[in-house]
Amino acid sequence: MNTKLDHNAPPVNQLDVNKKLIKWYDQNAREFPWRVPPISSREGTKPNPYHVWLSEIMLQQTGVKVVEPYFLKFINKWPNISDLHQASETDILNLWSGLGYYRRARNLKACAEIVCTQYQGNFPKNEKLLLKLPGIGKYTAAAILTIAFGIPSVVVDGNIERIVARLFALQGTLEKLKTQIHKRMMIISCNDRPGDFAQAMMDLGSTICKPINPECLNCPICFSCSAYKNGTTQIIPERAKRRTKVLRKGFIYLAITKSNKIAMVVRPSSGLLGGTTCPPSSEWNIGEYPENNPPISGTWVELDKKVKHSFTHFNLELRVMVTTISYVPKGFFLKPFNLSTTNSSPSVMRKALNLLLKNQNF
Ligand code: SF4
Repeated sequence: MNTKLDHNAPPVNQLDVNKKLIKWYDQNAREFPWRVPPISSREGTKPNPYHVWLSEIMLQQTGVKVVEPYFLKFINKWPNISDLHQASETDILNLWSGLGYYRRARNLKACAEIVCTQYQGNFPKNEKLLLKLPGIGKYTAAAILTIAFGIPSVVVDGNIERIVARLFALQGTLEKLKTQIHKRMMIISCNDRPGDFAQAMMDLGSTICKPINPECLNCPICFSCSAYKNGTTQIIPERAKRRTKVLRKGFIYLAITKSNKIAMVVRPSSGLLGGTTCPPSSEWNIGEYPENNPPISGTWVELDKKVKHSFTHFNLELRVMVTTISYVPKGFFLKPFNLSTTNSSPSVMRKALNLLLKNQNF
């Protein structure tokens, strides 16, 4: 890793920032099941690398409140990485259901496989080797090195980018400031307790240096903050223009047996919701509905309500088609049509299943 510092940066006092931030963290750290509290960290307790990795993968694209119950379910079912390695991808995807971005769940399995077969169940303490593992990019590698192993590395997530941009009053959108932010983060990173420092920055970004209306008067590093001094905290970082999402449209087909089972398929492993178990659906076309072409023959009726769901890059509207079947269609398998199946389905599918569960007329 390039550790050259940018000596042209504005004079933010490095020692001041990291000392004050660590002191604040000691008193204000958020509690998470994957985290070693600062008091234990100071006494030498090391975080469990499996917990750090699992939580960091779950936290990619997802907030802590949503992640926490999923994390607990995972470590309850698979207490260590070799348990996870032995789990089937289907079981992992089922427990992951509702967390979204299913590629992450498939990468968990693939990564556990490599760590268990090539590294005797121990994550490598080396950035280059970590980056070769499925699902681990620069940020996650840095977080594992710093938080799990106490190896100083530059951890920069969205919250930290915002703090650094304000601390140094950097002009531009976060997208354009990435290199500058990385260099500035090297200036203020703490070598004594690198893991706690990174987590202190994360906590500061979530609780004090928020995107809108940062609570500067409660901020432990306000006297080092250029944006606070300049009165520019509300305009730094510059907001990127929002792209409008396209609307995709399609059909979902719910085929139910008289014994209350539902026909399901496993979606292809690549692509959106890849590898998940779902009711069949049509293509999702931009702008207009595709032809209504059910994959199972039967008398199909349409529910009054449609499913509306928002993915990162598009919105989706699904017309919900329902039929009863008396046989298992070729290429499908049956699952009980109940809350358990509904809750283990991806969110968009769950919405369709819930519509049918609530529909008394069918
Ligand atoms: S003083 Fe305000 S803007 Fe600056 S780091 Fe603290 S909370 Fe963020």
